[in-house]
Formats: sequence, C-alpha cells, structure tokens
Amino acid sequence: MFVGKHTTISNLASILSSPVEYLKGVGPQKGEMLRKELEIATFEDLLHHYPYRYFDRSKLDKVASINQNTEYVQLVGTLINIYEEGTGRKHRLTATLYDDTGKIELIWFQGAQWMKKSLRDHERYIVFGKVSFFNGVPNIAHPEIELLSSETAVAQMQPVYPTTEKLKAKGISNRSFAKITQSLFEKVRPGDIPEILPVDILSHYRLCSRYQAIRWIHFPDSEEHMQAARYRLKWEELFASQLQIAQLRLQHTIQPGYKFEKVGDHFNGFYKEHLPFQLTGAQKRVLKEIRHDTATGKQMNRLVQGDVGSGKTIVAVMSMLLAMDNGFQACLMAPTEILAQQHYQGVKGLLENMGVPVAILTGTVKGKDRKDILKGLADGSIPIVIGTHALIEESVQFANLGLAVIDEQHRFGVGQRARLWKKNERAPHVLVMTATPIPRTLAMTLYGDLDVSVIDELPPGRQEIKTVHRNEMRRAFVMDFIRTEINKDRQAYIVYPLIEESEKVDYESLLAGYEQVKVFFPEDKYKISMVHGKQEAALRQRNMERFVSGDARILVATTVIEVGVNVPNATVMLIESAERFGLSQLHQLRGRVGRGGEQSYCILLTGNKVSNESAQRMKIMTSTSNGFVIAEEDLAMRGPGDLYGTRQSGTLKFKLADIVQDSAILEQTRQAAQFVVSEDPTLTSPKYAAIRNILLQQAQQSHWSKIS
Ligand code: ADP
Ligand code: MG
Repeated sequence: MFVGKHTTISNLASILSSPVEYLKGVGPQKGEMLRKELEIATFEDLLHHYPYRYFDRSKLDKVASINQNTEYVQLVGTLINIYEEGTGRKHRLTATLYDDTGKIELIWFQGAQWMKKSLRDHERYIVFGKVSFFNGVPNIAHPEIELLSSETAVAQMQPVYPTTEKLKAKGISNRSFAKITQSLFEKVRPGDIPEILPVDILSHYRLCSRYQAIRWIHFPDSEEHMQAARYRLKWEELFASQLQIAQLRLQHTIQPGYKFEKVGDHFNGFYKEHLPFQLTGAQKRVLKEIRHDTATGKQMNRLVQGDVGSGKTIVAVMSMLLAMDNGFQACLMAPTEILAQQHYQGVKGLLENMGVPVAILTGTVKGKDRKDILKGLADGSIPIVIGTHALIEESVQFANLGLAVIDEQHRFGVGQRARLWKKNERAPHVLVMTATPIPRTLAMTLYGDLDVSVIDELPPGRQEIKTVHRNEMRRAFVMDFIRTEINKDRQAYIVYPLIEESEKVDYESLLAGYEQVKVFFPEDKYKISMVHGKQEAALRQRNMERFVSGDARILVATTVIEVGVNVPNATVMLIESAERFGLSQLHQLRGRVGRGGEQSYCILLTGNKVSNESAQRMKIMTSTSNGFVIAEEDLAMRGPGDLYGTRQSGTLKFKLADIVQDSAILEQTRQAAQFVVSEDPTLTSPKYAAIRNILLQQAQQSHWSKIS
C-alpha cells in the first residue's frame, strides 16, 4: 500500500491512501512531479493541499480604477500583444490586458518561454496581482492568470493553489490543479472523510463538519462558506496543538518533584546580609511563586519573563540557594560562553563571602579543571554550577540536581530542556528565564506547558533610555555627541549588523566602520576594543574584558553582544545600519545601556533613504521602551516564523492558522483543550478516539514525544 505524507494508520485501507496518479488527468509522470515538488503522493495529500486564495467573481476591479494607492487588483479583460523582449537576464514576456475602461501591462521575468506558450491571444482572462508603477504607468508583474472558459465561469469562487515554477512549466497549471481536485471529489465520499471532533465541540463552537470544510475550502460556493471552512480547519489545527500542550501540562502537575520544604540559612543569610540592594516588588513576587512551586512536591516548570535589566539574575541566584538549603545542587545554563562567564563572575561575586563554592563548566574548560569539576558535581561537593550546553552532556553527572535555571531560553531547544530532566531520578525543577518578552499568543503555543511569572518592574533609579533615529548625513554630529559622553568618563557601544548570508560583506563593513571610528576617535586619545564572531574565543574574551573593565572606552562590535552583557558605565548604544535589524533585536541591543544610574542614549543610524517598513520600525523604537509592546509589533510585522529562531522548531508550523491573526481561535482551542484534558486526561473515551489517533501520529513526527 502506498504511504503518503498524510496517510494515517486508520485510513490505510481507505480510498484516501490511493496514489495520486490514479486520478483522472494525473498519470505516472505528473504524479511523480507532484510528489517531488509538493510532496503530494496520495489522494489524502491532495485533499490537504489547500488553495491559498480564490478568484472571486463578485469582486472585480476596472483598469480605470487603478491609482497610485492601489495595491492588489483583480481584473477581467482580453489579452493582446503577447511578446518576448530583451536578452539574457533582461529577457521577459509582456502582454496587454484591456477591459472596457483601459489597458494595463502584464510582465513575466521568469518562465517567459512556457508562459508564452500557455497564453492565448485575444482570449478573455481573469487576472490577479500586485500593481506597481513604472514612470507613473501601472503594470502587474507575475500575475495569477486564468483563462475564462465557459466551464470555469460557472464557479463564483475559483481556488488558487500553491504551486511551483517547475510544475507550471510541466503543464500543471492552477487550472489543472482545480481539475484534478475536482475529479478527486468525484471519487471521495463524505464517509471517507470522517469527523474527528466530538459533536459537543462542533456545536458549541459552531464548526462545520470536516467533510464540509475540506470540500468548501477547495470549492466554496460563497465567501461565507469559504470562511466557515477555513475557520473549522484552523480550529482543528490549533486544537490539536493545544491538546498536546494541555496534556504535557497535566503531566507536569502530576509528575512528582523534589520537595523544597524549608527556607534555610543560605537563602535567609543571603537575603539579610549579602543582598546588595532591595528587591523590587516584582522580584519578591516571583521568588514567592518559585518557593510555592518547589514546596508542593510536584515538579516546577516556570517561565520568568522580564525585560532586559529587570533583574532576573538575582532571582535565579536566590532560587539556587533555596535548592541548597534543601540539600540539592543547582545549575544555571546560559546560551553563550560570554554570558556563562559573566554569570559566573557575577554569581561568584555575590556568594563569595558566604563561602558557597561556585564552578563554571563550558566547552573551553578542559583537562584537569574539567575533571575536578565533573568529580565535584558527581560527589556533590560543588553545589552550584554555571555553564553552557556543556552542562547537559551525557558525561556530566550530578549527585543530586534539584534545580536547573535556563537563561535566555529562546536559544535552547525544547529537546535540550528535556535532556535536563534526565539528570536526576526525578526531574529537577526547571526555571526558564527570558529577556525576550513573548507575546501572549506566542507564549501559549511555545510555552503553554509552563507557568509564567512576569517581572514587570525595573529596579528603582533607572532612567528611560533616550532613543533617536538619525541618518547618515548627521554622522558627524552623532560622533561629536558620543565624544562628549566619553569625555564625561562614560563608555559607548557601536554595533554593526552581521547577517550570515552576507557575512563577508558585513565583515568588511565592520572593519571599514572600525577604521572610520578611529578617524573620529584617534587611538592615542581613545581606547577602542573590537569583538566579532570571527575572532578566536580567547581574543574575543580578552577584548570584551577590556571594555567591561573600563579600559577601552568604545566597543565596536557585531551582535555577539546582543544578549545579557552588563556594563553599567556604558551610556551610548549606536546601532549602525539600524534598518537592517529586527525590532526585538534592536530592543535587546538597546537594553545593553541604561544599566547604571546615568542617562543613557540609543542612536539608530540609518541610510538617508529607508523603506516604509524600516521607517515604521524606527518609529516604534523611538516611541516606546516597553519590551512587550515591541514584541507584539515585531510579531505582527514579521510573523511568528522568523522570531525566536522557531522557524525550524516546527512548533509554530501550521498549515492555515496564524497565531497572530487567529488569536481568538487560539484562545477558544486552549479553553476547549483544557476542558477535554481535565475530563479525560488520556483521551481514552471513544469520542476522542479519532483526535487521539491524529495526535499520536503527530507526536511520532515531532519533539513532543521526546519530552515525556
Ligand atoms: P536581566 O533581567 O536583564 O538579566 P540583571 O539580572 O542582569 O537583568 O540585572 C540588571 C542590573 O540590575 C544588574 O546590575 C543588577 O545588579 C541590577 N539589579 C537587579 N535587581 C536590582 C534591584 N532590585 N535594585 C537595584 N539593582 C538591581
Ligand atoms: Mg540576564
């Protein structure tokens, strides 16, 4: 039997597992193409290959209505003047479409040859695309275009399928897709697409049936039905993911954990005698939550969100002391060597006077040092260890690990978090700390299994960082400003973008920038240090140290300093080519200053001309310093895939749902999932059998299974 990407165990015997080439109009050759290009191997795969938009006959524009503000248009007209022009890279195909109000040019830069073959002169077409203007004259490049034959004219809403250039070249046009799907529906009966959601959920949330939804999403007879179909399918997608999260969460709550029964001398002694400042209300609240969690006898899984500089480290340190008071070891894991080092220095400094041994374990700790530390961890003589990923390696054994703190979580995969849980008989308590404020919807999907604490208060005495946007023409003024700050004995960061794809170019511009900085700040008067990812770790470390110690006044750097680095005396953050950074990244960078008592500044330097979107980003940055607002804006502007490196993780990969736009559905499915899991934790009742099956299959393919 043929197994396609959607083939499920339960329907192996069903018609849905038939190879797609059995369909009328497909055949072996096209079947092979579909499999290669779109992973469509079976009837079922094709059923789930949804259109991403529709030609809606009820919504037509006229050529004459196009003006400078027009974005997308849908036109019906006659095609004439189809010809190729230019050679080599300038080669292209143009055609003219006219209706009763005027004419517009259509252009193809790619696939001109086969496009030319498929277009017919003097025929009527429906066309959809983005309008652009060239010398004030509108045109549409790479429009979606479909012949208006008598047969297609029947449907009001015509599906437009995702496809590839290769498929189009092989004659599998959008129209053939629609035809293939049509012949599929001639073979598939409602009984072949059984319902998977229980009836009470269907009726409570007013969802249409699964068969109906899949039919309507391909061939809606109205806008309403199309919406109903998409709604239902999105619901199902989000529900499946929320069910998994709800189950995981439930598992945490029943998972026995170590009981931290007392608050003892380490915690109290530190609080009374060694704490260098008063805790903020928010810090106290979060510590209380942690104390409560760890005293229940269940395993804690808590996420602490706090904007940059909100003081998460001290919360981690005091939690580790709490673990010690109860006879356990604790570890603090950071995403980079620099951060681990910095945490180590900081934590050691805080605990030195109390005689608490603190060790560091990273990839660069080798030889005898490493041996000693491994031994100390295994025999329990080292109660607190700070490190990087090196901590979760198999070779690291703990005598009695009771708490693991993970700083800057978004750089750790969920799988890595799971490995920590195996470091003791029972899973240690896990405290995840992130400086990237996570919008609620994202948190619900990414960290839905964690309890969340928020440090929503900055330590007293902090002044808001003044943020300005300047362009290249003002560079000299900007440098003068930095000079006055440095002459007041402050320090400054100058940051350059370094993005992998263009690494070489970026590297050169960093070096050029460094030379330029030296022109403004002659080396005999100003000490400058430089750090970037291409340096040897040891050199980078030394250069960083020179800035941290105050010896160097200016740090020229790439984004390696993005997270966590703490130099309170630095008051200026100049970000070069700021238009090339994302919002969250800009916010993280800005958070490197304003860490002491002095007024700090963040200068966003861009080219003289920037795109609308970049201008928008600069505006957001200069108008707010609230990390949550910025994260929401970032999510809205970029979409979840780009953020937090989750693109590869698969956690946010939905076919239809978008966690930003569909947050209302997300909320519903979360509630429904919590209800279902509380009623039937293992989903064993017959009404959940179908959805359980689907979850099991998904679990096999994803990381979720690894966690438990
Ligand atoms: P982040 O949340 O970004 O990790 P840190 O823990 O590095 O922040 O703290 C930032 C700075 O604020 C540190 O210098 C720290 O000593 C200081 N700090 C933390 N909590 C307080 C407080 N309650 N009062 C004064 N300063 C504090
Ligand atoms: Mg930190």
